[in-house]
Amino acid sequence: MADLLDLRALPSIDQMLNAPDAAPLLERHGRAVVTEQLRSLLAEIRQAVRDGGGALPQIDDVFASLLCRLDYRSRSNLRPLFNLTGTVLHTNLGRALLAEEAIAAAVDAMREAAALELDLDTGKRGERDSHLRMLLCELTGAEDATVVNNNAAAVLIALATVGEGREAIVSRGELIEIGGAFRMPDIMKRAGVRLVEVGTTNRTHPRDYRKAIGPDTALILKVHTSNYRIEGFTAEVPGAELAVIAREAGVVLLNDLGSGTLVDLSRYGLAREPTVREAVADGADLVTFSGDKLLGGPQAGFIVGRRDLIAEINRNPLKRALRLDKIRIAALASTLKLYRDPDRLAARLPTLRMLTRREGEIRAQAERLRPQLARLLEKHGFTVEICACRSQVGSGALPVDTLPSAGLRILGERGTNLERLAAALRALARPVIGRLGDGALILDLRCLADEAGFLESLSQVSGHGLA
Ligand SMILES: *Cc1c(COP(=O)(O)O)cnc(C)c1O
Repeated sequence: MADLLDLRALPSIDQMLNAPDAAPLLERHGRAVVTEQLRSLLAEIRQAVRDGGGALPQIDDVFASLLCRLDYRSRSNLRPLFNLTGTVLHTNLGRALLAEEAIAAAVDAMREAAALELDLDTGKRGERDSHLRMLLCELTGAEDATVVNNNAAAVLIALATVGEGREAIVSRGELIEIGGAFRMPDIMKRAGVRLVEVGTTNRTHPRDYRKAIGPDTALILKVHTSNYRIEGFTAEVPGAELAVIAREAGVVLLNDLGSGTLVDLSRYGLAREPTVREAVADGADLVTFSGDKLLGGPQAGFIVGRRDLIAEINRNPLKRALRLDKIRIAALASTLKLYRDPDRLAARLPTLRMLTRREGEIRAQAERLRPQLARLLEKHGFTVEICACRSQVGSGALPVDTLPSAGLRILGERGTNLERLAAALRALARPVIGRLGDGALILDLRCLADEAGFLESLSQVSGHGLA
């Protein structure tokens, strides 16, 4: 074949599609897409030649450009990446990574029919929540449980069911915004509940709640201040005391735990968070918490508590709009089952595994990786050092308790642009996401498991023109 393309002699689309080089592309991307991309590529080449754009490309180069285009177009923005931000539960990066058991269950549920709403014992219609209900009761000590799309939805439907057209009392210290459009006062409005604020930003007392209770009061809402902490001269009313106040007045106590956790995290060397079981035992009528924060499962919101109230929530038409699909139910059930064996939880649940990694182990990993990373980046004018850093739990859980960690600090020489490096790392086939700050790009290695894959990914940084 004459290698040099001549404008008039440019092969036809058909000729190119029949060339041996096209076979793997057709196999991977399908004829329709390859044809469309080839047509536009050839049109661009013709235009460039007509505009005096220099030499005609070799046919091999045409196939190489075509391959690049096809791969780029077929690549997903949801492709796996390396989360080296130091935030373990990063909302923008999808929060919890699921346990292998949960992944396998989700895959089975996707591939095969399952008895989602069929009772296999009686052959009668079943309940989709039944797969989780018993597990949640077992793990929290609650009478009953239900599950919805996320914790924001759990709070919304609980408020709307218990308090629509009536009042909910909330401490001024707990009127949270958790990011995005989730602000407690707005959610209350949407739920049709009138907000009655009590106390002050830093101090709220039992008498503040007592004085605010009136004939229109439906509930007291307690909100875990997940993503901030008020320190100093402060007072809040503990759940157990609020439960007494609510019971005396005949109103409901709803406790939104936010992340919530099913185990005492201090057992794994982490800071203590109130567990769901404790909130239930303290007398809350309803407790809400998330599936994909500390719990380490897929996105979901749980409501556990009094049987009569859970039944009412299940009858609310909103429930149908907020319900879960079989894939998530399968993954959640498998995740929850791991909690039956707390001894092996840190090994099996990726969230807990990453949160409990020891600083020394992460530092050893940094020492292993530094020379290789330095070799890859030095030619672009960057230096790489080992650094101590602090990881965060993320998603508003344990906001003040950072975890000692280690990482690689990348510094630019003579004005080398770190933002360009960060952009090049984001553009990789498997992106690497670090944290820019203090004139450096920091890669916190707490969440890095696949070292070989990481180096392989970084070895492709070259072609990106960083100089
Ligand atoms: C995170 C959080 C929510 C919302 O939970 P999602 O699962 O993100 O919907 C609600 N309340 C509190 C206190 C939270 O921390």
